[in-house]
Amino acid sequence: MARPRKQGDATRWPVPCGRCGEHHQSVANWPDGGVCGYCYQRAKRTRGTCTCGHQGVLPGRIDGYPACRRCSGVKLNIDCKTCGAEDELYRGGRCQRCELAVIVDRILTNPETGVMAAELVPVAAALKLMKRSNSGVTWIRQRHVTAFLKDLAMAPTITHEKLDELPGADRTRNFIRGLLVEHGALPRRDELAVRYNQWATGALERVSTGEHRDVVRRYIRWHLQRRMNQMETVPHGTFLRSKQTVTVAIEFLNWLHDHGFALEELRQEHLDAWLADGPSTRSLVDRFIPWAIKCRLVDPDLTIARHRRGTSPKLSASEQDAAVERVVHTDELTVRDRAAAILVIVFGQHIEDVIQLTWDDVTVTDDLVTIRLGRTEFALPSPLDEPMRQLAAAPGNDLTASHPNSNWVFRGYSPGRHIHGASMRSRLKSVFGTRAARLGTLHELTKLGPVPIIADALGYHPSTIERHAIGSASTYAEYIGATRELRQIS
Ligand SMILES: [Zn+2]
Ligand SMILES: [Zn+2]
Ligand SMILES: [Zn+2]
Repeated sequence: MARPRKQGDATRWPVPCGRCGEHHQSVANWPDGGVCGYCYQRAKRTRGTCTCGHQGVLPGRIDGYPACRRCSGVKLNIDCKTCGAEDELYRGGRCQRCELAVIVDRILTNPETGVMAAELVPVAAALKLMKRSNSGVTWIRQRHVTAFLKDLAMAPTITHEKLDELPGADRTRNFIRGLLVEHGALPRRDELAVRYNQWATGALERVSTGEHRDVVRRYIRWHLQRRMNQMETVPHGTFLRSKQTVTVAIEFLNWLHDHGFALEELRQEHLDAWLADGPSTRSLVDRFIPWAIKCRLVDPDLTIARHRRGTSPKLSASEQDAAVERVVHTDELTVRDRAAAILVIVFGQHIEDVIQLTWDDVTVTDDLVTIRLGRTEFALPSPLDEPMRQLAAAPGNDLTASHPNSNWVFRGYSPGRHIHGASMRSRLKSVFGTRAARLGTLHELTKLGPVPIIADALGYHPSTIERHAIGSASTYAEYIGATRELRQIS
């Protein structure tokens, strides 16, 4: 990292630096002249291929061009004591990568046996190969990370349960768990299902009576968790919704108890009163009541108006154009986020589907980028293809250890996982609300062509498109990419 540069002082250092020409203290006398501290630092970090063909650090200067030590005659210690590579040196005369390796081995070796657990060997290898070893060193030196890894190194056996027990921050725990799973040292388990289970155990304690607690326990076990168990992986939305459902059910049962009633005594007026004098989230009890009726816990004649989810806000055409403009032409978002945003905003796709794209679904050729989403396949016309091209060229997350063989297009922080819908949504929030953008897109697309063609191209049911078509103006909006796009597909 570059230090802020101090102002030069011509009185104290009358002879200017041979490289930058400013008046700073000279720290070395190299063949091309006196060199100030700033230029010395910069020289150590200059890498490339010298005219002689040598690849590595080029600290010297010949005719203003960087040159290797041999060609320039500059004397500088940049040979790593461990691997021999030319690099900036850190503790013990080691390069940053060798320093990282030493730290990883030290922390992950069990101090009592002097041996590293077999499960941890591939994890250690992955950590040593982090793309940016300086970030790796900074990460592993944090006190809570070091402590967590040292505890792990001492664990007699490494299991999911053992990881759950270790003290430490969840972020570190989840990252390390991901590495262990990714490298085959632990079986994959559905983290959200496990987290839901842990959350539910705590939530049950908030139920005021034992009888009601049993009801909630059954509801969780036989309704919510049963459904989760049938899913291959629990989506984040299901996890959040199931928490909200139980929270509202518990509040409702506690309210009932406070008014002196048990669930089997529930009458329509109780339900109506509860819904009438509380926040609108109370209406989510419409998930619990039908289940209670089905299980014959309450009067089957109870009715509850289905919770209206409201009309989602839509981006107007001009807001949408502005958003497309920002997504396509700025560096405000990362390449990954821009690629995702284009699929949502221009092609009207759900973010939950977009984040599940794998590189098998994307074809990049010199003149065309095509994406397959569900049954739909579409081409990204220029300039909409640019972010996806860049991503295909360098799909890596900063921490390569996280994704040794990952096929996800939109990689997340957790090893081997795609990014969460919720985190992608919040990343894109600065540009547009994803749901609003998707609905706005549908609205605009209906102006461009016959409903069945659009429906087919975008994989929507024609009636969904029709509803939007009714609300939209008949003028053909200038719409980046989409017009051309639809012609290509139809
Ligand atoms: Zn200088
Ligand atoms: Zn050279
Ligand atoms: Zn080294």
